[in-house]
Amino acid sequence: MQLHIDNSFIDELPADAVTDNHVRQVFEAAFSYVNPKVPKQPKLLHVSPEMIEAVGLNLEYANSKQFLEVFSGTSVYQNTKPYAMAYAGHQFGSWAGQLGDGRAINLFEVLHNQQRWALQLKGAGKTPYSRQGDGLAVLRSSIREYLCSEAMYHLGVPTTRALCLIETGDDVLRDMLYDGNANYEKGAIVCRLAPSFIRFGNFEFFAARQDYKNLKKLTDYTINHFYPHLGSPSKESYKKFFEEVKQRTLKMIIDWQRVGFVHGVMNTDNMSILGLTIDYGPCGWLEGFEYNWTPNTTDAENKRYRYGNQPNIALWNLLQLANALYPLVEATKPFENILNQYKIDFEVDYLNMMRSKIGLVQQLETDADLITRLEALLLKYETDMTIFFRKLCHYQKGMTTEGFDLISEAFYNVEGLPETLKMAWLNWFGDYNHRLQMETANDTQRSEAMKRVNPKYVLRNYMAQLAIDAANVGNYELIDELFQLLKKPYQEQPENEKWFAKRPEWARHKVGCSMLSCSS
Ligand code: AMP
Ligand code: MG
Repeated sequence: MQLHIDNSFIDELPADAVTDNHVRQVFEAAFSYVNPKVPKQPKLLHVSPEMIEAVGLNLEYANSKQFLEVFSGTSVYQNTKPYAMAYAGHQFGSWAGQLGDGRAINLFEVLHNQQRWALQLKGAGKTPYSRQGDGLAVLRSSIREYLCSEAMYHLGVPTTRALCLIETGDDVLRDMLYDGNANYEKGAIVCRLAPSFIRFGNFEFFAARQDYKNLKKLTDYTINHFYPHLGSPSKESYKKFFEEVKQRTLKMIIDWQRVGFVHGVMNTDNMSILGLTIDYGPCGWLEGFEYNWTPNTTDAENKRYRYGNQPNIALWNLLQLANALYPLVEATKPFENILNQYKIDFEVDYLNMMRSKIGLVQQLETDADLITRLEALLLKYETDMTIFFRKLCHYQKGMTTEGFDLISEAFYNVEGLPETLKMAWLNWFGDYNHRLQMETANDTQRSEAMKRVNPKYVLRNYMAQLAIDAANVGNYELIDELFQLLKKPYQEQPENEKWFAKRPEWARHKVGCSMLSCSS
């Protein structure tokens, strides 16, 4: 099997002159050449047939010795040179300086069917950007990234993808809860893919060092390859570039809010310049609808990256990108206008997205109020987001009490629901029913449309944890079961009804289920 290698990033951007893996500050370079760590006893745990095909390979090759060697970092694919990318970033609201691929190693880029894919190993050892880290990843976080990214793709959310999951045979020391109790865990590597892994932080890296020559090179490269329709590099195209990054980022955030996804670590180094969801760490899907929820224990106090704050944080991150790109445009007004437009667009797009979730096609002035009242009810009493909206797909015009009965399965404590709240719900259903009279679609048509935006299956953290617990004792079947389930999140899958259920009580406070640390 031969891959069609077409390296653009390392061919067109400046390399770090130093060529070993020792930790250092890197200047005037977009990346450093590195050597992946040779793992002790690599074992292929899972491959994505779809992505194998997307890069021009086949399943037979995926099961070959050479595949395992290349994608575990054991050997380097012919005529390629692995590298780690240089980036900086703002973490939790503060400038963090140089970060970079501390445990991600890009193998190469391939072109297949006119699509460019950069292939990257996460957890393949130290790079110049590893700082105090070991460059490795544990099986638990690798299973999560592998399943989460594919789940997001099939939910219709822009995201990086995953090619394969490999256990390294090496033990990795982690203090999972940061409480002084470090333990050895199984090491693993995910090979992930994206047209490019460039982040907001790559631009910040050059801007912070006032290296405007390379800032321009990076921006021109990004536009030429990924935004070619914006035309040749100029102040005009830089503005249009920022405008489109804003638009893509906004679309991604609206999708996150729609499916109840919480990223958990929205630092600017985790923001893709292509508007893709990237870096699946302590992330997760809402169970109870809750603006304040974040799965990230490291952020438990301030909850900067809570569900309800994601739209604001994306805007804040875009502002940091604007600051980085400013030297190329030398005017603030265009950036201000675009950032202001984000707020206006968000209101419109969010409202339309919520309309679609409750089956409204017509746009009425009163819809915002109906939706705000619905959210207030969901927030008042622990209600499972996924189950609520999916059950609502079965609503039929004329229902009031029956409408309430339909969704009551989404309450975590059905018996404890106060009578006043039930009255408020009946009230809301009365208004909803009234509103649906203005729609032309019949119940079946509306239900079908709603089912296309309200998933039946999401990867709840306890589900991922079950797959992790099994894998840690050598049983990998659940990884595949969930992988298959999450390929069709909007479809009824009668054989998988057990996964259409509220989070079980045992998982409410369990590590890995309700809370996740950045330790990975
Ligand atoms: P994250 O918050 O996971 O996106 O990571 C932030 C930064 O820390 C990035 O530069 C990562 O490459 C780096 N990093 C995270 N974990 C490790 C690790 N185990 N070894 C080396 N670098 C790491
Ligand atoms: Mg990251």
